[in-house]
Amino acid sequence: MSATAGTDSAPGGDPGAPDAPGAPGAPEASQARDLTDLELPDLEAALAELGAPPFHARQIYRWVYRRGVTDFARMTDLPLPLRARLAAAFAVPTPSVLERARSTDGTVKFRLGLGDGHGVEAVFIPDTPARTFCVSTQVGCAMQCGFCLTGRMGLARNLTAGEIAGQVRAMAHDLALADRPFNVVLMGMGEPLHNYEPTMRALRMLAAECGLAVPPRRITLSTVGVLPGIARLATEPIMPNLAVSLHAATEELRERLVPLGRKYPLADLLAACRRFPVERRGRITFEYVLLDGVNDAPADARRLARLLRGIRSKVNVIPLNEAPGIPYRRPPDARIDAFGRALAAAGVRVSVRKSRGRDIRAACGQLILEGALPSAGQRMAARLR
Ligand code: SAH
Repeated sequence: MSATAGTDSAPGGDPGAPDAPGAPGAPEASQARDLTDLELPDLEAALAELGAPPFHARQIYRWVYRRGVTDFARMTDLPLPLRARLAAAFAVPTPSVLERARSTDGTVKFRLGLGDGHGVEAVFIPDTPARTFCVSTQVGCAMQCGFCLTGRMGLARNLTAGEIAGQVRAMAHDLALADRPFNVVLMGMGEPLHNYEPTMRALRMLAAECGLAVPPRRITLSTVGVLPGIARLATEPIMPNLAVSLHAATEELRERLVPLGRKYPLADLLAACRRFPVERRGRITFEYVLLDGVNDAPADARRLARLLRGIRSKVNVIPLNEAPGIPYRRPPDARIDAFGRALAAAGVRVSVRKSRGRDIRAACGQLILEGALPSAGQRMAARLR
């Protein structure tokens, strides 16, 4: 892929545009409550505390989520005195677009700044086949999968629900797509089921009809296999599609590639998938990063097909995105092809993922922040690069 990616920085203030974070009127964050961390019923309760009727909560959600307006003074359908009281009581922190890099294939990687100086990466993919926002659930990741660059950073901290949903808000308004249908995938930095509550709260905020109204069927949560989290997810009223990062068809190899596999063995993970209520949700996606000479033999494909028997599944084969410091290679195209064919021949539904945004390092497992608040893990990653 040729590298003609462009990077541009955030635009300046435009009076007609969604508010920039820290817009005039924003109160001191220290004394104000974070409005973006409130689900709709929480906001209704908070309004009641201010003596205001609960229906204003839906108006506020519409401004913040659908229109990208975070300055209460501009929320023109709210009574003026209420606007002033809201401005005194609440902050509406929104991840700021520090940088956006456009790939030649239309993928846009965002570097988003959070209130405390940390940052995360999030990606817009124009056609997979629908528009998709890929967001992070943690700053860094604790899972340390052997081929993933994000894991090299270590975990800096969990994101709040407001910061998870805020990434979608920030990108949708930056790209003027808030009124269009889109998918959300939790496949950025971090392990969503290692940050369970905030992740689920974020999904409910995104689903709110008066806001961005993203239906659960348009949301996919990808996990490396945190078993208690999968069991709990199966009981949620707003249940996203489930993707499981498998990567290996034997216990021994999985433990080598995915350290969490030592805690939650492959057999138990597959048993949990068998129990997952997929009849309502279609199919479970199994992600399988293809590593040259490690897990890419036709025999691996046949073993994988046997493991998945009886699970309503599809396999997403992701040829490794190579990165300096990652001790694996991407298999040659012929071998990727043969692996996909062997799976299909064994009756598995399979797609081989075309890697997006490789010229801007927005591809899977390549989300790592360069420059912002280097942690020990990041410094190590930088040395390895
Ligand atoms: N922690 C979650 C979600 C984030 S990773 C999970 O593990 O599912 C999203 C996907 O990208 C995972 O399937 C992950 O294994 C894959 N991935 C990580 N590093 C990669 C790399 N270098 N090349 C290709 N895919 C990678």
